[in-house]
Amino acid sequence: MDRDLGNNNVEMLCKTCSKQLDKIENGGSFIGKKDILKSPKKVLTANIPVKMDDGSTEIFPAFRIQYNDARGPTKGGIRFHHTVSQTEVEKMAFLMSIKCAVVDIPFGGGKGGVKADASKLSETEKERLSRSYIKEFHEFIGPEKDIPAPDINTNEQVMGWMMDEYQKINGDYEPGIITGKPLSLGGSKGRSYATSLGGSIVLEQYLEKENKGKVSVAVQGFGNVGSYLAKFLHEKGHKVVAVSDAKGGIYDSNGIDITELFEKYGKDGDLTIMDGVEEITNKDLLELDVDVLVPAAIEDQITTDNVEDIKADIILEMANGPTTPEADEVLEQDYTTVIPDILANAGGVTVSYFEWLQNLSHEYWTENEVNKKLEKYMKKAFKQVIEISEERGVSLRKAAYITGIKRVLEAEKMRGNL
Ligand code: GLU
Repeated sequence: MDRDLGNNNVEMLCKTCSKQLDKIENGGSFIGKKDILKSPKKVLTANIPVKMDDGSTEIFPAFRIQYNDARGPTKGGIRFHHTVSQTEVEKMAFLMSIKCAVVDIPFGGGKGGVKADASKLSETEKERLSRSYIKEFHEFIGPEKDIPAPDINTNEQVMGWMMDEYQKINGDYEPGIITGKPLSLGGSKGRSYATSLGGSIVLEQYLEKENKGKVSVAVQGFGNVGSYLAKFLHEKGHKVVAVSDAKGGIYDSNGIDITELFEKYGKDGDLTIMDGVEEITNKDLLELDVDVLVPAAIEDQITTDNVEDIKADIILEMANGPTTPEADEVLEQDYTTVIPDILANAGGVTVSYFEWLQNLSHEYWTENEVNKKLEKYMKKAFKQVIEISEERGVSLRKAAYITGIKRVLEAEKMRGNL
């Protein structure tokens, strides 16, 4: 499969929202102005040499892309993954620009990535790679410039090494250069599970609006986002019937005890440790007859190859870009509700914003304060997206694009760039 569809996707995403924007503005000031979002403002690439434990040196292609900074410093995670390419990072950086605008936090969008198979790196190799990434890109990073965060296969430890390396180079204690840090280094309470908590809030808002009660759920991906999401939904009384990781999944029509699985999986990373479950593949999981399907792993999981087999009524996109634009059109025609990534998973970057605010003010908030504020931001964004969707009769994805893109273009206009 050709995974390098990044540019096409950005083009296509822009095209979809352009049409909607043209309609909304009704001959107004934004027509023909979307071009400013068709390509990133700054693309940084490097080949980073890293000393491996066996004494050899390996070269890793690395990227940091600052897509749009009209609304504030660029913001977005850094991923370590073997599929990373410039086009993939570009697409993710585009999504971050719109996502930050949808939840109305004062950031632009960026993304970073290293093409590396994280499962093959030892902790010491990972540390050297993290530090080398900062050595390479430190000039372009800063609390008022570009603020990285965790993403696929990077975690608070990686953020800690990166912050430390930045300080070694620049001298000052500046925790606001990066978010998703450990608590002991200026991290925020509630950040580790914020993406999932945000997603569960948005889903519950949608269910309430539709007068739906408890639902059955299948979650693809049991990393940081998928596992906490499954746990929150289980705790709220929904029936999580299937979960999976890269190795495969488990299914129980009566519902899996996620609290128990959460503890067990945390210890040895094996989903099949649960008793009485059926083993299934990731493909099976996507095609289960459930109320809610949650892709929480990587992009391009719902494609024209499998979209016709998807039976869920609601798709909660916790991964970034899990649905290809072509498959999305099919889902829209089938009246499947897609709660799009730029809304569903925006809780993570929202609490990153809170972390950054705490770092700049050196005043730290309680877990309850963080979660209450997150709830406020997520509910407000949900309400605004729903309103646009109902007013214009468009999907939630299009409504989210309209909300975000309008805000970015408004900022570009007031800067005199449009
Ligand atoms: N990587 C996360 C995302 O895709 C978080 C980004 C951030 O906190 O800056 O939204």
